[in-house]
Amino acid sequence: MDMKDRLKIPRQPMPEQEARVRARNFDEVPLGYTPETSKIEALRCIQCKKPTCVEGCPVEIDIPGFIQLIVEGKFIESARKIKETNALPAVCGRVCPQEVQCEAKCVRGKKGEPVAIGRLERFVADYERATGEVAIPEIPKKTGKRIAIVGSGPAGLTVAGDLIKLGHEVTIFEALHAPGGVLVYGIPEFRLPKAIVAAEVDYLKKMGVKIETSHVVGKLSTVDELFAEGYDAVFLGTGAGLPIFMNIPGENLNGVYSANEYLTRSNLMKAYKFPEYDTPIVRGRNVAVIGGGNVAMDSARTAMRLGADKVYLIYRRSRVEMPARIEEIHHAEEEGIEFHLLTNPVRYIGNDKGWVIGVECLKMELGEPDESGRRRPVPVKGSEFVIDIDTAVVAIGAGSNPLVQSTTPGLNTNKRNYIIADEETGQTSREGVFAGGDIVTGSATVILAMGAGRKAARAIHKYVMSK
Ligand SMILES: Cc1cc2nc3c(=O)[nH]c(=O)nc-3n(C[C@H](O)[C@H](O)[C@H](O)COP(=O)(O)OP(=O)(O)OC[C@H]3O[C@@H](n4cnc5c(N)ncnc54)[C@H](O)[C@@H]3O)c2cc1C
Ligand code: SF4
Repeated sequence: MDMKDRLKIPRQPMPEQEARVRARNFDEVPLGYTPETSKIEALRCIQCKKPTCVEGCPVEIDIPGFIQLIVEGKFIESARKIKETNALPAVCGRVCPQEVQCEAKCVRGKKGEPVAIGRLERFVADYERATGEVAIPEIPKKTGKRIAIVGSGPAGLTVAGDLIKLGHEVTIFEALHAPGGVLVYGIPEFRLPKAIVAAEVDYLKKMGVKIETSHVVGKLSTVDELFAEGYDAVFLGTGAGLPIFMNIPGENLNGVYSANEYLTRSNLMKAYKFPEYDTPIVRGRNVAVIGGGNVAMDSARTAMRLGADKVYLIYRRSRVEMPARIEEIHHAEEEGIEFHLLTNPVRYIGNDKGWVIGVECLKMELGEPDESGRRRPVPVKGSEFVIDIDTAVVAIGAGSNPLVQSTTPGLNTNKRNYIIADEETGQTSREGVFAGGDIVTGSATVILAMGAGRKAARAIHKYVMSK
């Protein structure tokens, strides 16, 4: 097909579950491209000599390269091309904010819509998994070096994958009973099916990575004890999962959750399948979710799927300042979530049994920009009003998981208790201890955590081999 015809092809839509149906089930919302739609979409890529899309990718995937292989129908080869720099394409194809990364830089976006890079990435990764052609790479001779990884989120999993391929002995210690970090306990099934994360973890296990779940470093063992046991280096990828509340009256009432607890109960402990699984969860009829990020959208959409009549999303700024992905905001609205923008809760109201029955809010207006560059919300005097609710989910951000810092002498942290680590190597103030992902940067993205993991793995390899 010549270039003129390629330029005429419209961006291929993603088939999705219908909004009314999906709002009541936990199945994945987008259904994925077929081989045919993928090939058509791939033809939209004009194979730029200087591909700007690659500049927008934090791990510099050879985007035109993998897309050209799709045009040629070489789907497995295409998946492998991505895996040269990104170990988790099925995950990233689903949850990366492509609209501000690769796709934001695609030249086709200048006059029309960018190439659907994320959807194509997802397609080839799924194709490879579905056809069972996921090849286990040959592992080189053992180096005899042992590396301990604390935390099994995207940062820890990336370090594990990279180091096992270099012949080291790798053990991941994970506090929860299932590996995957936020990929399993935070991001819901309808956005990222758990089976996909399980397949990635399985792949690491097949390569020889050992995973010890229900092992809280800082309680069951300390970093120093890991060194004493014979580990040559330790990577800390413990994430930012500490719940943050607003410190307003009534947050101790029954029915007021942190998003972290709410999502963990639903996702990881399968509360939505109660009584088949024995974790209970309050199935609120009228649910308020506080916040405007991905975590808030995930909580609101989960509440809807748990059977709520009304889900209110309460956010103190306006839509343009919402940090959530555009796609998530759009999906939430389609599913019937009611947005209360420029609104801020000031207290929760309880009944005599200690359960939440309402949230009092204030209307806000936007003032001058604050230190984040976004316009500061200012309360409108006398604008108080109450929304009747029986459940509230607070999703206003998260802090650093503190346990490892408090039990590792000499590990330097910043004033918000995130670990200080070199951006290029992940090296911390303790010799042999490296860190990366949300525990260094604060809450960020899957791909940035993976990028940090990749750099740390390189540095750990250099460090242990020079010892
Ligand atoms: C609900 C939600 C939705 C999100 N949606 C998106 C999205 O759509 N796209 C995107 O790119 N990003 C998203 N993010 C952000 C993204 O998931 C994180 O940036 C990323 O997971 C960080 O990876 P990590 O490996 O640093 O940490 P985590 O994924 O947090 O993993 C840390 C792991 O360490 C374990 N751990 C902690 N302390 C200890 C200890 N002492 N001992 C042993 N183990 C320990 C934890 O149990 C956890 O499993 C979302 C986050 C949340 C919470
Ligand atoms: S910028 Fe867009 S069109 Fe150019 S190579 Fe990248 S994906 Fe293809």
